Amino acid sequence: MLYDLSGGPGGGADSAPDLSRSMLSALPRKEGFLVLLRSFLAGKAPEAWCLAAIDIKRFKLYNEWYGSPQGDALLETLASCLESFHAVQGWPAAYCGNDDFFLCMPNDRDLAARVYDHLQGMLNARARCTSFPLVFGLCTAAQAGGDTSALLRYAQIAVLSSSVSGERMHWFDPAMLAQLKQQYFLLNELERALREGEFCFYLQPKCNSMTRALVGMEALVRWNSPTRGLVSPGAFIPQMEQAGLISQLDAYIWESVCQLLHRWKAQGANIVPISVNVSIADISCLNVAQVFSDLVEQYKLEPRMLNIEITESILAQNFTLVEEMLSALHRRGFSVLMDDFGSGYSSLNMLKDTCVDAIKLDMKLIDLTPENRSRGVQIVESIVGMAHRLDLPIIAEGVENQEQVFMLQAMDCYYAQGYYFYRPMPVEQAEELLARPGTARYWSVHRDMMRRDHRSFNGGRVSAKTAAALQVYQILQDGMLELSLLNLVTGEYHVIKRDPRLPDSGLSQEEDFSVYCQRLVSEKVIHPDDAARFLALTDLEKVRTALFYEPVTQFHRFRKHVSEEFVWITMEIQPCRGCSAQEPWAAVLVREDAQTDQLERILSEKREAAPPPETAPSRT
Ligand code: C2E
Ligand code: CA
Ligand code: CA
Repeated sequence: MLYDLSGGPGGGADSAPDLSRSMLSALPRKEGFLVLLRSFLAGKAPEAWCLAAIDIKRFKLYNEWYGSPQGDALLETLASCLESFHAVQGWPAAYCGNDDFFLCMPNDRDLAARVYDHLQGMLNARARCTSFPLVFGLCTAAQAGGDTSALLRYAQIAVLSSSVSGERMHWFDPAMLAQLKQQYFLLNELERALREGEFCFYLQPKCNSMTRALVGMEALVRWNSPTRGLVSPGAFIPQMEQAGLISQLDAYIWESVCQLLHRWKAQGANIVPISVNVSIADISCLNVAQVFSDLVEQYKLEPRMLNIEITESILAQNFTLVEEMLSALHRRGFSVLMDDFGSGYSSLNMLKDTCVDAIKLDMKLIDLTPENRSRGVQIVESIVGMAHRLDLPIIAEGVENQEQVFMLQAMDCYYAQGYYFYRPMPVEQAEELLARPGTARYWSVHRDMMRRDHRSFNGGRVSAKTAAALQVYQILQDGMLELSLLNLVTGEYHVIKRDPRLPDSGLSQEEDFSVYCQRLVSEKVIHPDDAARFLALTDLEKVRTALFYEPVTQFHRFRKHVSEEFVWITMEIQPCRGCSAQEPWAAVLVREDAQTDQLERILSEKREAAPPPETAPSRT
């Protein structure tokens, strides 16, 4: 006997198979195997024999990681072991393409387990296979009622079911046939649902966890089934992926999202970017970058309104193709987020090789129990730290409680998506949320977050800017006309919130402070009589020198020119904590002089109500 099965995998390396000839080609293929199996089983008791369908889990990924020659060598090793079983024990074996093998053996669970261990041991001796274990799907000849084709099919069904259960040895059960039938039924229904437009999407906000400001939303597909009600994607996406229907669904959702953004834009509604999900099948069967660029053109959108989420596992499965897609999307102005980061096979290392624009931390990473907390926190910390060092914004997903929020904030991870803030909601509800007064013009917060060229941070400068942003947020609800962030060295100017009462004509797009101030004057937002003083006081060099020398808030008052009248406005320039050449950020706050106005109104009401009048303060 060539293999000592009683010893398990132990003797594997010593008895390494002879690879001098291709064992893969020596094994029979499907048709030949069926003939062989039929004659082998003829006259034998069907309950005494079984067939194992043998599969290497995630073999495609193995090929991708280690290259096809290594993958082929793994298949050769397996083929060689099976061939030896055939030679020594007389058990028929076959190779049916890809990583699909078969071995007929006595129906004995212990023996099957030992065969499994033996084969796995041989593979382990050849390569590190812990992430790519073998899977057995087994069926007895009796269960197939003497029909060898059915035997093959049932063993394959059993091996497929193991991908759901996660077990490595899976015995065929007739209930699997019923399940399969149900799946076919579901697929028919899904095809009909696609034709009849039963899919829609919900929106889940992403926000700044410090301020709850909305910085974006994610579109999540839902099936509005007349018989099943509202169905979540977990119940149909895997089936649609398997059946090759997912790209049709995705393309439909992407277009629906663009239609929505188009409508929002036409209505002048508040807009935050919406991200959509891309699945692996889309990448191989669609020109994703072209589809998105056609969509934004058709619906007259800017690419920054639409973000694209790809999962980490997609990247791991086909790095080259995904990188090509990423570059094509970047060339067209789209930002791409890496979804479910930390969930699977990729390492932190992969981050430095890819050019995604942000990462979404997988929700499992922050779902900590008392037992795994200290280790879990360390993992999250190292991912967040790495992302910061690589200049990658990070969004935590699945944030469900305040404890998680505090933990993330302590790590400088401020963006979050999760039930603690908002659940996915129907579009109408998301529109109500966006229409709330405090929500206006948060657009540029997100732009700040997503556009690498606007983030000049490394190390300390991140937190300085963050600190300035937080100062801004604290006063967000004060009913001010404008809130912006100013870089005192470069003059970089980001408008974060701008009230519609201020004339716009593209002013909020202006990104240079000096040009912005010039335009306020030339467009007569500033009263002509105050123009010279305004320009002198907002001279970048003067402001910078003063704030670096003494970092205290500067207050300047000007008259704003509206409809041939004027009102007083105050401009505050608040330096960030520790404002200096290394941390040159300031918050700029413009507000109408409400206090003076209010006081005047109250006093005039009093004057009307109860003469003799009191003395009103003069408006100087
Ligand atoms: P995902 O892209 O990771 O989306 C986040 C999922 O987490 C959503 O599940 C969301 O409802 C859920 N979630 C959000 N916050 C929390 C939280 O605090 N706790 C917990 N436990 N869950 C939270 P959903 O909507 O069921 O979607 C599941 C997955 O289906 C998505 O995961 C995505 O991979 C896929 N998917 C959704 N829509 C589409 C689509 O249009 N196309 C494709 N290809 N896949 C989609
Ligand atoms: Ca996603
Ligand atoms: Ca995710």
